[in-house]
Amino acid sequence: MFPLGGVIFFCESIPVNYHRHDSHLDLLSDAGEMFATLAGSADVDAVLQRAVHMVGQHLNADVCSIYLYRDATADLILSATVGLDPEGVGKVTLGFGEGLVGMALKELRPICERSASTNPHYRYFPDLQEEAFDCFLAVPIQRGIERVGVIVAQRSAPHRFKETEVIVLRSIASHLAILIENANALLNVSTARAAPETEASAELPRLITGRGASPGVGIGRVRIKGRTALVDMLRGDGDLAGAGAGDAPTLSLDEAIALTVEQLEDLEKELARRLPEAASLIFGAHLLMLKDTAFTGTMFEAIEKGATPLAALIEGARQYIRIFGSSKHDYIKEKAADVEDLALRVAENLTGTCDVQHSIYGDRIVIAADLLPSDILKLSMQRCRGFVLVGGGMTSHTAILARSLHIPLLLVDTPQALDLPDGIPAIVDGETGNVYINPEPAIREGFEARQRVFDEAARMPDISPGPALTADGTRVRVMANINLLSEIEPAERLHADGVGLYRTEFPFLIRDSFPSQDEQAQIYDRLFERMDGKEITVRTLDVGGDKALAYYDNAGEANPEMGLRSIRFSLRHPDIFEDQICAILMAAGERPIRILFPMISSHDEFLTVREIVRRCHRDLREQGHASERIPALGVMVELPAVVEILDGLAADVDFLSIGTNDFVQYMLAADRTNERVRDYYCPHHPAVLRALNRVATIARAHDLDLSVCGEMAHEPAYIPFLIGIGVRKLSVDPTYIPAVKQAIAARSCDDHQAYAATLLAETRLRKIESILKEREAT
Ligand code: PEP
Ligand code: MG
Repeated sequence: MFPLGGVIFFCESIPVNYHRHDSHLDLLSDAGEMFATLAGSADVDAVLQRAVHMVGQHLNADVCSIYLYRDATADLILSATVGLDPEGVGKVTLGFGEGLVGMALKELRPICERSASTNPHYRYFPDLQEEAFDCFLAVPIQRGIERVGVIVAQRSAPHRFKETEVIVLRSIASHLAILIENANALLNVSTARAAPETEASAELPRLITGRGASPGVGIGRVRIKGRTALVDMLRGDGDLAGAGAGDAPTLSLDEAIALTVEQLEDLEKELARRLPEAASLIFGAHLLMLKDTAFTGTMFEAIEKGATPLAALIEGARQYIRIFGSSKHDYIKEKAADVEDLALRVAENLTGTCDVQHSIYGDRIVIAADLLPSDILKLSMQRCRGFVLVGGGMTSHTAILARSLHIPLLLVDTPQALDLPDGIPAIVDGETGNVYINPEPAIREGFEARQRVFDEAARMPDISPGPALTADGTRVRVMANINLLSEIEPAERLHADGVGLYRTEFPFLIRDSFPSQDEQAQIYDRLFERMDGKEITVRTLDVGGDKALAYYDNAGEANPEMGLRSIRFSLRHPDIFEDQICAILMAAGERPIRILFPMISSHDEFLTVREIVRRCHRDLREQGHASERIPALGVMVELPAVVEILDGLAADVDFLSIGTNDFVQYMLAADRTNERVRDYYCPHHPAVLRALNRVATIARAHDLDLSVCGEMAHEPAYIPFLIGIGVRKLSVDPTYIPAVKQAIAARSCDDHQAYAATLLAETRLRKIESILKEREAT
């Protein structure tokens, strides 16, 4: 059958000013632009209508329609069309599995017919005059295993759709899935908008669009970090005499403090279990404060003098906030936020409004103007559901940490997000970057279903546990990037070949002070123990730049990415560096671990750090704390300068690892965290690709072990290129391992090589983008 009921008849053909595309490359490249334009639109009908129009034009189809699947009624509804009667949009429905369109969705496969009327599933509707457009192609639109809808193209016989066109429409459908999913949600949002609203909610935005920096779905209630009525009171200096006077406290201040201590101790235990590297340091300061009679004493005195418990709590906390807040040291200023958090928790216990027993951020979508890595950790410990960061204020490690903890993080540019009422329900979608405010039940149910799919996927065993091989059997090692020890479990479950990059800075970033040598050694030991027998590469401290330590004053560097970061920081602070090297050597014992140095800029710099390692090793040997073996020492290729001296450096280093995140940033002078120059941050820039090729060529010539550990290593678009230039080791966040193995296996080595050669031959970004898109479609 054709999809529609008897009400539709053909009334409009697609305008004939279209041209036949000589290659699908143009088609996909145009479609890419089309999606980019449509992505920002909030007008559902217009978005879908434009999509069918443009896809129809591109495919030279007489009819193009989109049907959206409705879970609740298990049917498809015609949502946009060119070539069919527009009157049918929003009215025409067909059942799941009904006709060729329903069948495409049910069986999740494209259906392509030269003559649809000869298919046994075909149903004839006289009003449709379908015979005029008997040549038929339906492609399901799906996201993961979720059914979103179907896109249909029809032509008058006998112009059958070619196989390449099916491939192209499939590629378009996968892009459309996100667009339509948004549109679908918007549909519900706009329906909700039409419904009568209370005065309070009438002013609220229903949808805030942004960009996902950590994937996943978060469902909960809004908590604006650092801005509630209580926080306003804590930060203000107004009269508190009546604060809380009208509310009957459910607990006395004494009881509320005791309950808070209990909650914090539970949180600490949980932290020790889930994130041992942060154990006891995050809530320890809160606990100390609560147990300090100087802190609580003034509060009890005020109550004795007649203050309400809430007023006494706020006034007591205010004094500390003022003292800490006026410090010129950032790390002391940070403690003001700790006092705020603590007072908030006690106040909520006092008034019985702490909605999750253990946490003021439990089940919350946290919206904030800035977020430090330590905030991400503290809030995740309290089981918040997602983060929305308003107007920048992100460090690259904030996003890396959120991804490691599997919590969605969105960046939005809408300041009103910070004015949302505390407690209003919200959903964040880390893939589309959408925040749904006060969502309708239908939206919520849809996202709950998606969340279940995510959760199941996160627990899934590795479906291809064997080694990663190209189609012709060349071995590529797929290693894990580990940021937190909790990531060892997925790395093991997904059969990582080892740890290609352990970012040691996380234990430094999430604490209140430099961890001691022993504390570091204990953390490293856990990693080495668990991954024993596999190759482990530990990178030395990579702080500074946007990875600022809250407790270290960076002297307000104007240009921190170019400043005293990474190995430069370590060399400026030899005591900290040597502590770390000794901790690594002590924890390693007899295990053959490797040490990697970030942001090396010269051969001499490498020789200096090598000398420090040798000295530490000698000292430890003398004390009987290190094995005879000295670890292999490697350099991260992150600065373009290194490429030029690699031939000489190669003679002294044991291995190389390309940190493409920074390499791209420095090659193109585009700050990796600056949204304003996002378009300049192009890993596929011909200069980047050619430089990567040079590194691979020099490494091969010197028989030097080479890996890529930046995010390019997990991007399906770049994996074939990397294999093609000879990279045989990729290090990625553990969750990407199965997809990376798949991308490696998809083609033979020759094929990957030929593909890399095609990319390397180009000097134009636009051309390279077209080649990447074409590859993606096949
Ligand atoms: C890189 O720069 O590619 C890298 C892996 O290091 P980081 O992301 O930690 O800076
Ligand atoms: Mg880096």
